[in-house]
Amino acid sequence: MGFEIYNSLGKQKEAFRPIEAGKVRMYNCGPTVYGRAHIGNLRSFLFADLLRRWLEHLGYDVKQVMNITDVGHLVADEEEGEDKIEAQAKRSGTDPWKIARAHEAQFHEDLAALGVRKASVYPRATDHIEEMLEMIAALIEKGYAYEVDGNVYFDVSRFERYGKLSGNRVEDLDAGARIEVNEEKRHPADFALWKHDAAHLMKWDTRFGPDGFPGWHIECSAMARKHLGDHIDIHTGGEDNVFPHHECEIAQSESFSGGPFANYWMHAKFLQVDGGKMSKSLGNVYTVQDVVDHGYEPRALRFTLLRGHYRQPLNFTWGIMEDSKKALDGLDRLYEKLTAVAAGEGGATEAGAGAELVAKAREEFEAGMNDDLNVPRGLAAIFGLRGEVNEDRLGRDAAADALHFLDEVNDVLGVIRTEREAGEDDAEIDALIAARKQARADKNWAESDRIRDELDARGILVEDGAAGTTWRRK
Ligand code: AMP
Ligand code: ZN
Repeated sequence: MGFEIYNSLGKQKEAFRPIEAGKVRMYNCGPTVYGRAHIGNLRSFLFADLLRRWLEHLGYDVKQVMNITDVGHLVADEEEGEDKIEAQAKRSGTDPWKIARAHEAQFHEDLAALGVRKASVYPRATDHIEEMLEMIAALIEKGYAYEVDGNVYFDVSRFERYGKLSGNRVEDLDAGARIEVNEEKRHPADFALWKHDAAHLMKWDTRFGPDGFPGWHIECSAMARKHLGDHIDIHTGGEDNVFPHHECEIAQSESFSGGPFANYWMHAKFLQVDGGKMSKSLGNVYTVQDVVDHGYEPRALRFTLLRGHYRQPLNFTWGIMEDSKKALDGLDRLYEKLTAVAAGEGGATEAGAGAELVAKAREEFEAGMNDDLNVPRGLAAIFGLRGEVNEDRLGRDAAADALHFLDEVNDVLGVIRTEREAGEDDAEIDALIAARKQARADKNWAESDRIRDELDARGILVEDGAAGTTWRRK
């Protein structure tokens, strides 16, 4: 059986077939850079990383695009109201451009700490204003959009498939509209492609007049088109993106091109904390830093966020983090034990012992991952094999094969500390320590603090003593 994906469009599992043989064009909705990503956001980014790694494991050449929303995403995903980045800028008395750039850098650091592979491109919305305007102009030209006093709206009544992803119907949206009536709109469900607001801080002069800025949905349509073309294989996001964001993207992109936009839509369920919504008032909107401050390595967070199925709600607790830490210790020990058995120390003595156990675990892991990325099923295969290894049922050759298998698993899950990985890590950390020493010698305190923070985020404790600087893992 090949790879099956649960497609939110149509709400069923489907065999994955790429548009072009051997290639996958994938777009992931990325962060709105107004604050540090919380572990809920990270769940959806890690899901994208897992999907990309699994596709690569299957041999596909993946072009992965994850956008940076640095303008136009209004508070609570509403049609009216403040821009999230500008609201943050006002709260902190800073320039919105600075807020956006600082949090973009932070986002990359967090992803690196979690072992996320770099996407092919991370396009910023503010670098694609021209591409958005081009699409908007064409949508007006084709009669799908209309302009009123510097604002441009998409006319949902013109796109008959509106609602095909979310199941929302224009009539119902009309009846249930909580949106205060905007006199400019022909229909309450029409959404803004371009807005005009003299008070907005990040703004552009265009053919629609001065002081304009893009709607959040057109950003993703334009960036997907620029980097992947009109027709893409997979589009992902968190479950809250289904409506209005992705529904609106479909309307814009398909009206523009006249053909289909994304073949598969995949959505990660929300992460909950302590059984409820994360909220600032409860003080449980955690970041990578909070997790590190609690004494856990970032990879334990990676494991926690990946170990459930992405379509099941996941409940984050410190108890789960503790459990993840133990599970990872168990996988590290498994790797060590297999390394020893493969080198002839311990294990079963009969020739060929345990070969079929490794083959079975591999098959079951593949079947689990091919089943819409069913990680719990894949992990069960690995922990099952661990039981067999601990019972000394594997001989030398089977242990060597099992090590290859764990390397393959780790290439997908990225959580086990294999010797190879530990070696690579150590070399990187030594390089950071040396860079920090140089920064201190140059009295470049800002740089030396930055490096110390980076080491901290990687779970490394630096100790400056009389005999020089040493480091160890927390
Ligand atoms: P934002 O930075 O608000 O644009 O969100 C970035 C991504 O994180 C989007 O794809 C959201 O759907 C996703 N997201 C936000 N909150 C959660 C959560 N609690 N669990 C999972 N994904 C989330
Ligand atoms: Zn998006």
